Amino acid sequence: MSGSLRIVVDRDLCEGNGRCEQAAPAVFRVGDDDQVEVLDPAPAEALRDAVEAAAHLCPRQALRIVDAPGHPD
Ligand code: SF4
Repeated sequence: MSGSLRIVVDRDLCEGNGRCEQAAPAVFRVGDDDQVEVLDPAPAEALRDAVEAAAHLCPRQALRIVDAPGHPD
């Protein structure tokens, strides 16, 4: 199930050191091209702490977390 978190990656900043993958391996993976790959761009709320830790640990500030707006109906 998807949560309201959305992850935005600036691949120009990413240097592929994998800190994010260590913090949240269900969400981030560093590919063979030394660029982060977002496995789950809309992770469940339960992963919020891990995703926030990953963004915080990223030495290049390449990860941004935004809260997706709700779905008005
Ligand atoms: S921690 Fe940041 S710089 Fe390192 S792989 Fe992840 S997004 Fe890229």
